[in-house]
Formats: sequence, C-alpha cells, structure tokens
Amino acid sequence: MSSSVRAMLLTRARTPLRAAQLDRRSLAENEVRIAVSACGVCRTDLHIRDGELAEPKLPLVLGHEIVGRVLEGGSRFEPGARVGVPWLASTCGRCRYCTSDRENLCERALFTGYTRDGGYAEETVADERYCFPIGGDRGDHEVAPLLCAGLIGYRALGFAGDAERIGLYGFGAAAHILAQVARAEGRRVLAFTRPGDREAQSLALDLGAEWAGAAGDEPPEPLDAAIVFAPVGSLVPAALRVLVPGGCVVCAGIHMSEIPAFSYELLWRERSIRSVANLTRADGERFFSFVAQHPVRTAVQTFPLEQAELALQHLREGLIRGAAVLTS
Ligand SMILES: [Zn+2]
Ligand SMILES: [Zn+2]
Repeated sequence: MSSSVRAMLLTRARTPLRAAQLDRRSLAENEVRIAVSACGVCRTDLHIRDGELAEPKLPLVLGHEIVGRVLEGGSRFEPGARVGVPWLASTCGRCRYCTSDRENLCERALFTGYTRDGGYAEETVADERYCFPIGGDRGDHEVAPLLCAGLIGYRALGFAGDAERIGLYGFGAAAHILAQVARAEGRRVLAFTRPGDREAQSLALDLGAEWAGAAGDEPPEPLDAAIVFAPVGSLVPAALRVLVPGGCVVCAGIHMSEIPAFSYELLWRERSIRSVANLTRADGERFFSFVAQHPVRTAVQTFPLEQAELALQHLREGLIRGAAVLTS
C-alpha cells in the first residue's frame, strides 16, 4: 500500500471537485478498509456539490454507491470479499426510530459521502455492520447503481402497496432499475420524462414500460401510484392529476424544488403524498435478495475517478443514459 489515498475532494459547495492525496487513517472497531473499484454518481451527490443540501462534512469525499474489496479490519468479512457500501453509514441503535425498525430516520445517523467520507476515491473506510456482501456475477460497475438508485427506489416502490399501474417521473438511474423490478413483480410501468427526451423514453420502453411520454402528458390510463425521482416540485400536482382515488404519490429524492400550490380537489378522495428518506439495512437485504433472483440489469456510463466533476455535470444536464459510475 502507498501511504496516501487518491481521491476527488469537495472543499466548498458550488466549487469543482479537485484531485487530492489523503492520508490513510487508522481503523476504529467494526471498521473495514475497502479498495474501491466502482462508485455510482447519485443525484444526491449533485445536490451536495451544488450546495442544495445544507450540512455536509467539509472537506468531503462524495459517493455512496460503493463497490469494492475488503483490504483489512473488522471481523465480518474475509480480506478480498466483495462488498457494497450504501448511503446509511451508521445509526445510534438506541433512539425511538432505531428501536422500532425505522433506523432510516435515526436522529444521529451518519451518511456515506455526506457526513462521512465516501467512495470518490481509490479506498474508503466503512462500518462493516452497514455494508452488504455482494455475490453474483454482475460486474462491479453494474452493481454500483443498485446501492442507492436501486435500493431507495425499491423502498419507494414498497410504499406504492399493491398498485398495478406505476408512473415513474424522471427516467434516470433509479427509474431504469425500478421499472425492471416493477415488471418482475407483475406491475405495469408508465414512464414520464423531460419533454422531448426521446432517449430516456426509448430506454424506458426497452426496459418494459408500456408507455413513455413527457411529464404533463395524459397517460392512456390513470395511475394507481406515482414515484417522483426528478427533483421538480411541480411534478407532484402533475402526478396527482392523473392518479386514481386512494392512490399515492411517493417522492423518492432527498431534495426537490418548491411544490406549487394546488387545489384540494387533486388530493381529495384519499389520495396521498409521502416522501421516502434513506434506507434500512433490512431494505438492503430484501433488495439484494430480489436482484439475485431476477435479471435486473443496469445501463451504466463509466467515467474515470478523475472525471467525477464531468460526470456530475453530465448528470446536471440530463445527459446520462441510465446511471453514471466512477471507476478507479
Ligand atoms: Zn443516492
Ligand atoms: Zn438511532
């Protein structure tokens, strides 16, 4: 091992990430050192980079869709084991949320690539109790987007109950995985993209959506549930407008522009709106066991670690088809 770790560092919000050499820190109890081979680029990273999420650790190594091999430390994994590191980095284990199967809402939770350093680096350190063992023969870069886009999308789909016709708003990293999961569960998928985004619409149709159009278009049938991935508040009333009575709009992102005022009539008849925050380890276990049994594939665009800023820029501009992944 060399004495320092190559990483892309955010020193201040709204400034470009820069290449840095970080000192390798010593491990605490339960911590493992991981050689990172792939790290997904999530929209949350962009919100942190652009100063839309208020309280990151700074300087910060972004990245919470990490796939790598254990180098040393801990007792749960053998050296060389393939593991995934998700957004939830640690919880207190004692608060009212931790003690009621809602550790995603823990009052003292830490988050990978936000309040702890993440995976835009050749190595990272994680609490082994929050890592997932990664089996199967998917490549590391194909697994990476499953760790947040897939996993938190899966949690969001859970809140759609037994809804049959699912509307997905924003067809990027999360929706392209979730469309396949929903189809595998026997649901029907309708995809809503930015107006004129033919590429995203054709990806949606390739992955099993029966209809794809622009947000604001009238779908052929009303939706039983809608999941909003795009960080655009006006999509909430737009989704309510095409939702059946009793249906739910699930907001799956960590940040969204302001939701415009709308008539109560859109909400009336027991329609509901809810958000999804973070993940629990139980969500991850359920999700990874699901994807081990179903042929869910990820469309991935890879960038070398040094081009993290470019990957974020492409994500901001809507140029990524599927998910962006950094490889080191
Ligand atoms: Zn994420
Ligand atoms: Zn807690």
